[in-house]
Amino acid sequence: MGEKVKLGMIQLCGCSGCHISLLDLHDQLLKVLPQVEILFAPIVADMKEIPEGIDVFLVEGGIRNEHEKHLLEEIREKSKVVVAWGTCAAYGGIPGLGNLYPTEELLKEAFSTGTVDNPREIPEEDIPKLLDRVYPVSHFIDVDLLLPGCPPKPEHNLELIGALLEGREPKISKKIVCDQCSRKREGTYPEEFKRTFEGTPDRERCLFEQGYTCVGMATRAGCGAVCPSANVPCRGCYGKTDAVLDQGAAVANAYALTGDAALKLPDKLGLFYRFSMAAGLIPKKIHK
Ligand code: SF4
Ligand code: SF4
Ligand code: SF4
Repeated sequence: MGEKVKLGMIQLCGCSGCHISLLDLHDQLLKVLPQVEILFAPIVADMKEIPEGIDVFLVEGGIRNEHEKHLLEEIREKSKVVVAWGTCAAYGGIPGLGNLYPTEELLKEAFSTGTVDNPREIPEEDIPKLLDRVYPVSHFIDVDLLLPGCPPKPEHNLELIGALLEGREPKISKKIVCDQCSRKREGTYPEEFKRTFEGTPDRERCLFEQGYTCVGMATRAGCGAVCPSANVPCRGCYGKTDAVLDQGAAVANAYALTGDAALKLPDKLGLFYRFSMAAGLIPKKIHK
């Protein structure tokens, strides 16, 4: 790579939060900016054409429609390094939960709130055709790097940029959130699960063992177990570790040890696959 890294950034089926997370670098961003040349970033300025010769392209969001798929393929052709940036790009993220419903049903629901005076019709012309489901970017192109997180923490963005500038692999934790969590574990299992707002969790003991739906046992570490530290269960936003193929299956495996308590959970798929349904071994619900 030359003196300055030529950078491209785009938001596809994401919420812009990964882009915004760059701003959380605060004054550290000022140290990085002189080393990069931003060639394409529609979130910053109105840009239509993806230029040739991009060194690193940060792709936020998964793929939901034909236009995003086309853009992604063009990005791959024109970039040396493509990064699946954030959990939506890496694993489909929260939008992937839409894979539990057929596209037609989602559209009907989304456009069902019109009134007699202001009916809402499902638009069909001049808009990109929706795919049958949300896909992680790696479904359509070869991805060079994954940086999970919803959004990635500032220090991880900094590590990614530093690694790219230095031409090395970024260091991403291979551990699970439980490894970074300081709560005491006794090896017990809850008899029932509670909602997060039911009661006040003991701040010292493992939330899962207290019956709160923490999924830190099947989630990539790196965030410093920030949610359990704040007395809130881990929701799984960093996705799976390299050791498993399917985050939801790994969560289900852990929860199965609670027997009846797990069976009574009201929204099992939503809990097990909150961030990674689109990248699961069975990435959508099959309707007859
Ligand atoms: S990973 Fe999270 S912050 Fe990033 S686009 Fe998806 S929902 Fe938004
Ligand atoms: S299950 Fe949750 S609360 Fe328990 S040790 Fe793991 S991350 Fe901490
Ligand atoms: S504790 Fe879990 S949900 Fe919270 S930031 Fe870390 S990985 Fe994400």
